[in-house]
Amino acid sequence: MQALTSLTFGQRFLQLPSVFHRAVQPQPLSQPHLVAANTPLCLQFGIQAETLTAPAAMALLSGNRLADGMQPLAAVYAGHQFGVFVPQLGDGRALLLGDTTDIHGQRWEWQLKGAGLTPFSRMGDGRAVLRSTIREYLCSEAMHGLGIPTTRALAMVGSPDPVYREQVETAAVLTRLAESFIRFGSFEVFYHRGQHDEIRILADFLIHHHFPDCAEQAQPYAALFSEIVGRTARLIAQWQAVGFCHGVMNTDNMSVLGLTLDYGPFGFMDGFNAAHVCNHSDHSGRYAYNQQPQVGLWNLHCLASAFLPLVDEEALLAALSAYREQYAQCWMSLMRSKLGLATLQEEDEELVEALLLAMHAHRTDYTVFFRRLADFVPGEDNAQLRDLFLDRSLFDAWAARYAARLQLESRPAAERRPAMLAVNPKYILRNYLAEQAIQAAQQDDFSLIARLHDCLQRPFDEQAHYQDLAAEPPAWAQEISVSCSS
Ligand code: AMP
Ligand code: MG
Repeated sequence: MQALTSLTFGQRFLQLPSVFHRAVQPQPLSQPHLVAANTPLCLQFGIQAETLTAPAAMALLSGNRLADGMQPLAAVYAGHQFGVFVPQLGDGRALLLGDTTDIHGQRWEWQLKGAGLTPFSRMGDGRAVLRSTIREYLCSEAMHGLGIPTTRALAMVGSPDPVYREQVETAAVLTRLAESFIRFGSFEVFYHRGQHDEIRILADFLIHHHFPDCAEQAQPYAALFSEIVGRTARLIAQWQAVGFCHGVMNTDNMSVLGLTLDYGPFGFMDGFNAAHVCNHSDHSGRYAYNQQPQVGLWNLHCLASAFLPLVDEEALLAALSAYREQYAQCWMSLMRSKLGLATLQEEDEELVEALLLAMHAHRTDYTVFFRRLADFVPGEDNAQLRDLFLDRSLFDAWAARYAARLQLESRPAAERRPAMLAVNPKYILRNYLAEQAIQAAQQDDFSLIARLHDCLQRPFDEQAHYQDLAAEPPAWAQEISVSCSS
């Protein structure tokens, strides 16, 4: 075991020319205190989470000191925000501290989010509020627990420093980790400026560090683009299957590694609503749940434009045209598993669509339904499931189809049930749970954050002591409003 401050860092991002980044020192928070520490992720770096409260570790996590080799910088990028191109964005409040290797030999980039002004802060203050930091911390780790690619959260510190949003709130800093934070917009910025050499340099950097297999291909840049298309398709299929809405799928929030990135007004669905919009500022519903797959493709088209100097148009279009099929295949395979189907039948897609239509009509709780479906018995009335639908006949009609479909499976129910429980989570980060954790934290009680984090690491396990965290939302949860303000 070692101390956080004795880790040694490099900064491979500095291999990129100076147009890619600006050196920025973090602006310390005053009187920092630890809000949460991610024990398993700390252990992955040989650190005991308990040692993060040591003054030197706290200083590092709050931007007051650096570890050996850290060279903080803000990266430049652009992006299509709600369909409109914004030529320059960049890390406005996140600083890339450097990169280091975990005990498995994997290299991770470390960022401080909310560490103060950068040259890209525009109208912002470079800060993050405790509320949104808790949401990002918990959701990154919930996604990880669900097996969905995501940036990670190592630790979170709070401070009494005021931050001005709709109301005065307090500041926090999140230490977040990823193999890379490079976004679609990291390419777009240079395409817009006509700096085609930089596009090539960035693609080479990505291939070298993250997609070494592409280097072996006849057309490495085309292979890189195809790989990003595939990862994006699979990521969004996973979001859909678990009922997750990202909320702000601007191209600057799209990871080229296919990670869930930049948690803002995200939401896991409670009652199923195909057109659910989790971001109250998204008036047109551009990023509604049922739009996400299509938005993924739209965003990939933006990225394809930026790849034009590297790859001929035909190859880009061919890669883009594979998206729908890759998405549909991945999504159907996930939905089949959720239904406990081990074989493949043509009618499966209709069976899933019919179910989603019925769930949409009744706003059936998405997570509860699929969890209970593991106990479905063909020919019985399945009251536990049936009661989730106001119009019981709608469920009965679907249940009859499902029962008939199960007849085509040779897998015995005793095998199907555990297989379904292993893919249909019992615990998700419902909005009301995040809200309760935030309200307690604002009164200096961080215990619910720790409980949620612990529970959400194993979302498929029963975990008797966390039954309360599987409860459907209380009535007041309807009133929770999540905006871009963070
Ligand atoms: P988002 O869509 O929330 O990921 O943010 C879009 C852009 O705004 C990014 O370039 C952020 O770095 C920047 N940004 C968001 N909030 C702030 C803030 N409080 N201070 C400075 N920049 C910010
Ligand atoms: Mg962003």
